[in-house]
Amino acid sequence: MADQLIRATAAEGGIRAVAVNSTALTNEARRRHHLSYVATAALGRTMSAGLLFASTMKRPGSRVNIRIKGDGPLGGILVDAGLDGTVRGYVDNPAVELPPNHHGKLDVGGAVGRNGYLYVVRDVGYGYPYSSTVELVSGEIGDDLTHYLVTSEQLPSALVLGVFVGGEGVTASGGLLLQLLPKASENEELVQLLETRVSNLSGFTPLLQSGQTLTGIVENLLGDMNLEWMPETQMVRFDCGCSFDRVLNALKMLGVNELQDMIEKDNGAEATCHFCGEMYQASSDHLIQLIDDLQSGSSS
Ligand code: ZN
Repeated sequence: MADQLIRATAAEGGIRAVAVNSTALTNEARRRHHLSYVATAALGRTMSAGLLFASTMKRPGSRVNIRIKGDGPLGGILVDAGLDGTVRGYVDNPAVELPPNHHGKLDVGGAVGRNGYLYVVRDVGYGYPYSSTVELVSGEIGDDLTHYLVTSEQLPSALVLGVFVGGEGVTASGGLLLQLLPKASENEELVQLLETRVSNLSGFTPLLQSGQTLTGIVENLLGDMNLEWMPETQMVRFDCGCSFDRVLNALKMLGVNELQDMIEKDNGAEATCHFCGEMYQASSDHLIQLIDDLQSGSSS
């Protein structure tokens, strides 16, 4: 199954459901950043959440940034996801590996750290972006983001995230977001019902691994509650907006002296994009051209 995202509503529009399969894009991130197993799980979970959060925005061009800064050895995590289905991200220390936790699972909470902060920025493309910060709950990412949704956006929400990664790479990655919309959020019976059903889920990746489709998973959860599908299935992918031109622009900002220094000492410049790991090399000729641009700009 290709990476994709589906949306539905249930209970006469009182419940929003979004599900994403991010298996290939998590594998792509693993390959680009040389991620350890636990780093793959941490970044994969956060990228799935980014796509789920972005999918609830309306204005074209909207993006969500999720930054997690815990006190664990992984350092920070940064993910940037768009309503258009693109996502990119990185972790500070991609090689960190930890022994499994007491459930025999990848110790994401130990790698991220249980103390620290989670920052979410929603940018609709104009005005000030909306940003909010909460303390980490467990470092397991799903719990932390659910806590954020409930306290900061004040919508009763359930978020299930999972990544399965082994020697052969990522074999399942994805997530599910269920939210009670304002008109239903006072409905205690509905809140209870959703909580019970979500807590009965045996995780998200086992369902994907057993061959269930996204629609099948949502149907099993909400099929008896007037489930209505949004017509379009959205393709999602790892995609970074970086380019050689952007790198040259960034180098130009360093100024003439610094550029001259780079030509003399390094015979050019090398830059790696944090978000996607792409490496760019600017030759001395490129740098000389930048200096020319700067000098002709300042003399005219
Ligand atoms: Zn990039």
